[in-house]
Amino acid sequence: MMRRIIEVIKKKKLHSITGKLILAIGIMMLTVGLVFSYIFIAKNPYSRLAEVLLYGGSFVVITSVWLCIILYNIVTKPLSFLVDGMDRLTRGHMDYRITLNAKDEIGLLAQSFNAMAEELMQYKEKMENWTRSLEEEVQKKTVEIYKAQEQLINTEKLASLGRMAAGVAHEINSPLTGIVTFAHLMLKRTPPGNAQDIEDLNVIIDQAERCSKIIKGLLGFSRKTASEKIRVDVNVLIENILSMVRNQARFYNIAFDLRLDRTLPEISIDATQIQQVFVNLLLNAADAMEEKGKIKIASRAVEDAGSKLIELEFSDSGPGIPEENVSKIFEPFFTTKPVGKGTGLGLAVSYGIIKKHEGQIFVKSAPGRGASFFIRLPAA
Ligand code: ADP
Repeated sequence: MMRRIIEVIKKKKLHSITGKLILAIGIMMLTVGLVFSYIFIAKNPYSRLAEVLLYGGSFVVITSVWLCIILYNIVTKPLSFLVDGMDRLTRGHMDYRITLNAKDEIGLLAQSFNAMAEELMQYKEKMENWTRSLEEEVQKKTVEIYKAQEQLINTEKLASLGRMAAGVAHEINSPLTGIVTFAHLMLKRTPPGNAQDIEDLNVIIDQAERCSKIIKGLLGFSRKTASEKIRVDVNVLIENILSMVRNQARFYNIAFDLRLDRTLPEISIDATQIQQVFVNLLLNAADAMEEKGKIKIASRAVEDAGSKLIELEFSDSGPGIPEENVSKIFEPFFTTKPVGKGTGLGLAVSYGIIKKHEGQIFVKSAPGRGASFFIRLPAA
């Protein structure tokens, strides 16, 4: 719209109106001059006509020039200010204002122009702020979607790993039981003097039993074993586990900070399995802190997408988990512990147990600031 007005003005449509005005006034003055001339001639019939016309013409020209100057100052010049202002406004100079002291209609027009420019500037600022916050929101949502997608892929990966692990574990379990049984039988038959054979057989039994432990872990992860759900108070479960681990040497130098919500309702869970998860988390925390530091255990009620949940938090003051490992720690066999100490099954098994309870287990960790594991179980 604004561009259209400027185009009209630039095409001199307005200028031609001013020109017409000047022309009309000029003609009017010429007529007045001629009338005066005739009167003068009539009053002085003997004077020369050329002299009279010269006086009359000079009067007309001087008056016209004088009128043109006045018209230029009161109409054309202020109008050009307005045109210039609109031109700048359409080119985006929202802070441009017209300074006109005139109190006439053009002065009013300039004031309205300034008010309009002010409003436009405010709208522009508002729009820019909206765009900025919209961009930020889009960015935030994109990150959230990306994270959710990653989590979904991870969950899928863990589920297929679990199915594969369950199959492999079942296949290996029977031959392994055979190896252990027959190694024991051979050990019984071996004469006591044959020290070398006895030592070798003991190595076979030890290693096979280690394999058996891993298989049990795998079966736990895939949860092929049946579970027995009962209604329990999770706070009581936590306290039972704590009184058990506190007496173990590796927890002597660890302080416990208990923040339990006593108003939580009882929930239906397999207590043995959930306790196994708590023990896994506590053992990992003790390992990470090299057996000295602080473990915070909290229980609370939370809501997620309208469903009521019970959240349990296990936070330690250890070194935390490096960012590149956070997505891997729930995978079976992922461990950073030395060979023989870690199997990489503790968290994978815990994940399997919590999933079976239709819950969630996740970690928040910043290197150097400890690790916080969260378990969420349905409250109903
Ligand atoms: P394992 O304990 O046999 O290594 P887990 O599945 O229990 O197997 O743990 C996998 C890995 O996760 C650990 O090796 C360790 O690197 C990391 N981890 C688990 N808990 C913690 C923790 N509290 N602090 C730091 N790292 C941890």
